[in-house]
Amino acid sequence: MANYDYDLFVIGAGSGGVRAARMAAGMGARVAVAEDRYMGGTCVNVGCVPKKLYVYASEYGKGFKDAIGFGWDSAAPEFNWSTLRDNKKTEISRLNAIYRNLLSGVDADLIDGRATITGANTVAVGDQHYTAHKILIATGGWPHIPDFPGRELAITSNEIFDLEHFPQRLVVVGGGYIAVEFAGIFNGLGADVTQLYRGPLFLRGFDGDIREHAAQEIAKSGVDLRFETNVTSISSAPSGLQLTLTDGSVIEADTVLYATGRKPNLDGLGLENVSVDLNQDGTIAVDGQFRSSEPSIYALGDVTGGMELTPVALAEGMAFARREFGGQDATPEYDFIPTAVFSQPNIGTVGFTEEQARELFGEITLFKSSFRPMKHTISGRDERSFMKMIVETATDRVVGVHMVGPDAGEIMQGIAIAMKAGATKAIFDNTIGIHPTAAEEFVTMRDPWQGD
Ligand code: FAD
Ligand code: NDP
Repeated sequence: MANYDYDLFVIGAGSGGVRAARMAAGMGARVAVAEDRYMGGTCVNVGCVPKKLYVYASEYGKGFKDAIGFGWDSAAPEFNWSTLRDNKKTEISRLNAIYRNLLSGVDADLIDGRATITGANTVAVGDQHYTAHKILIATGGWPHIPDFPGRELAITSNEIFDLEHFPQRLVVVGGGYIAVEFAGIFNGLGADVTQLYRGPLFLRGFDGDIREHAAQEIAKSGVDLRFETNVTSISSAPSGLQLTLTDGSVIEADTVLYATGRKPNLDGLGLENVSVDLNQDGTIAVDGQFRSSEPSIYALGDVTGGMELTPVALAEGMAFARREFGGQDATPEYDFIPTAVFSQPNIGTVGFTEEQARELFGEITLFKSSFRPMKHTISGRDERSFMKMIVETATDRVVGVHMVGPDAGEIMQGIAIAMKAGATKAIFDNTIGIHPTAAEEFVTMRDPWQGD
């Protein structure tokens, strides 16, 4: 082997990069990691973690009202944005330090700065040049705002967490995970929220019943949901931002959040210096072992597309390190990946949608349940939960489970394990429930759904 500075040079200290670097270094590889913004990447700094903290914050709003029916009589509490924002900053700084220590603990070199690939085995960070046997691109994604007049007046999920002032009137554009989650967060915190989505029903790709039930509940919770609507322009006005919509109407906002998808983060990466092929959507093309078309260069996580989720990037980082530095035949399994949208109420899902299952399996049996959560019998909150199971009729195997309701994300993790193990509906039915919970509904859905 040529005499390289490092066995592995990782570009990006996010979910996938840190996991790959830690594991490879733990297996004895000489590893460097370059990071130009924040330790821990998107998830820790402007993604999963601060988002979930803000979801917790926003749930209190309704929680205080719910409590009245349970005998708690308190004056309406006031929300202080700067307290939440600054406490969040403190927690994220703590996590940044932990990530830094994780790398130094395994003797990986952390290089602060933006890395540019200068050749098949060479990387530059500032005016420093490094050589490496293998280079791993784990640079993640970056929010994308489409072109239209006034786009510079909109912000993205990168900025929303640290706003100087709380946006009393927020417009959210988009109908994916981020748009739905942030509309819920700011609605819960007390803002007037309007969510605009260009299509007939948001959350494209999720099960149809789930999308409809979620839309109904989110609208009931106070978000002004407008489908088949988009923005044609944004301009500044004395009283805030003015948005002209595709139906010709004009609305005002203090802040406009664009959550219209993410693009691979390739700026300044130097791919022009090597022969790394891209997919049609601009993500890096890799084979099942994370190899790009340039033999010494690998890529994983969001920058390669697929399901853009932290546990997926972690699994890929782990498999990469085991294969390349541990001599193991490791490949992540991509079937039955559970996922949650931390909307209010939550959406949790694993496996196929009804639409996919009909195409794939032909005959399927459906089980559905809609009910008022026990808590809301006394809280008085007008919110309903919905659960759905999809079974391949010929084999009795459960191939899709979906839920809208409190803790759906928590509930779905256990269901995913059962589904990975190939559980049939009979196994669900023979499992004794935990009473009283919402989750027990999944083991007591006896009667197939016969149509409305
Ligand atoms: P990233 O975590 O994005 O890390 C890439 C890193 O590379 C970054 O730190 C970046 O600064 C660095 N970098 C980029 N280019 C260079 C360069 N040239 N030189 C040096 N460093 C560079 N997923 C979930 O599973 N659950 C959630 O609840 C969830 N919530 C989310 C909420 C939001 C608002 C967003 C935006 C995402 C969320 N995600 C969630 C997705 C999750 O954050 C990503 O899937 C995950 O972070 C991908 O990890 P990664 O390692 O591929 O990239
Ligand atoms: P998504 O791809 O999920 O959603 C993008 C949304 O923007 C879609 O509704 C899309 O509409 C719409 N859109 C795209 N282009 C335009 C346009 N030009 N004008 C108007 N609307 C447009 O991306 P997000 O940004 O919400 O999130 C990125 C990824 O991050 C997610 O896919 C997910 O993998 C991950 N994530 C995960 C979370 C979790 O696990 N809880 C939370 C947050 C993010 P259409 O459907 O019509 O194409």
